[in-house]
Amino acid sequence: MKIKRRKFLSSLGMVGLGSYMPGMVNASVPNLHDKTGIKISDVKTFRVDRGIFVKLETDAGYAGWGESSPNSTEIIESFIHNLLKKEVIGRDPFDVEPIWDELFWKSHDLGPAGALPYAIAGIDLALWDLKGKILKQPVYNLLGGSFRKEMKVYGGFGVLGGKVPLEQAIKRAVNLAEKGFTIVKLRMQIRENNLNPIPDPTLKYYTAIRKELPDSVELFVDPNEGYTASRAIQIGKELQQLGMKFYESPCPLENHKDTAAVVEAMDIPVLAGEKCYTRWQFRDLILQANPDVIQPDLIKSGGITEVKKVAALGQTFFKTLAPHNTKPTLGTAAAMHLLASISNAGPFIEFIETELYGEVMSVFDTLVEFKNGKLIVPQANGLGIEINEKKLKTIAR
Ligand SMILES: [Mg+2]
Repeated sequence: MKIKRRKFLSSLGMVGLGSYMPGMVNASVPNLHDKTGIKISDVKTFRVDRGIFVKLETDAGYAGWGESSPNSTEIIESFIHNLLKKEVIGRDPFDVEPIWDELFWKSHDLGPAGALPYAIAGIDLALWDLKGKILKQPVYNLLGGSFRKEMKVYGGFGVLGGKVPLEQAIKRAVNLAEKGFTIVKLRMQIRENNLNPIPDPTLKYYTAIRKELPDSVELFVDPNEGYTASRAIQIGKELQQLGMKFYESPCPLENHKDTAAVVEAMDIPVLAGEKCYTRWQFRDLILQANPDVIQPDLIKSGGITEVKKVAALGQTFFKTLAPHNTKPTLGTAAAMHLLASISNAGPFIEFIETELYGEVMSVFDTLVEFKNGKLIVPQANGLGIEINEKKLKTIAR
């Protein structure tokens, strides 16, 4: 028996839902373009030593705070004020996805990686903070709920390719262990433009530092993309023999084939991706280099909205996410909310020697809690840590 379409829809209670179809409006359901009635009224930036913060203000009194990467903050500030701000003013703060798309696609000719996703990240984090504050929920609840309340963290420090004296490097490693870090990362900072140095400083630093750390503290190496495959495999295998359990960014991002060869040769997980800024760069990284762990940085890679997609890409290929994270404030809070909400988080998140960030830290009334070698997911509304605007204004440039 034929059932008329309208009668069928009516039996499902679907008659009257016309406004969900483009071009049709029905007064009985809320207008999709005016969901909250709240509009973003201003976009402000505050540049400080080692940081740039973004504040979104609304006509309803709510405000959200975000953070962009601290590299070249004058450029990021210019991107925000000259390109992005006009697309955000007047928008509904709940339109996180449409806003992200417009910010990215309208300006991506300027370069889809680097300054643009850095600048978008600041706005995106502020949008999520705002949304959480309006709904009175921590951001992880808006992202899908909670798999975890904390995440293991490692402390890292750099030795400038061997220019930092060994004694000083040992001191920094021991200092991190004394502060409660159970995992320490030695950043060799050899870099892509100084490939395969002779002599190679890595084993000298690793063995000297390893000797001074308690056995309970893990130590792993990041050559900062300073090797081609053959050197990366040679050094990596020796480090593996010495007990290293992870190997980060052995080869340049520009040469996924070399990373793939290292992944193939090593018996320990290889981490990569701190310089991938979009889902498409992560797609190429995964398909061509096949690292075990991917490392998006939320304040570089377009914010929570983009990295949530990168996390889904990771799930698709059974990769876990260990965010690159050099900022101890809003960037860390955002990363913790994302890690709380995804199944493939870990094995850890990066943290930093917070004393390097004295001025930035001083403008926060609350910070992400660090306890027993772990960071705790903030539970307050929005991103869950409080910036003191008065203090911030006294140090902003
Ligand atoms: Mg790294």
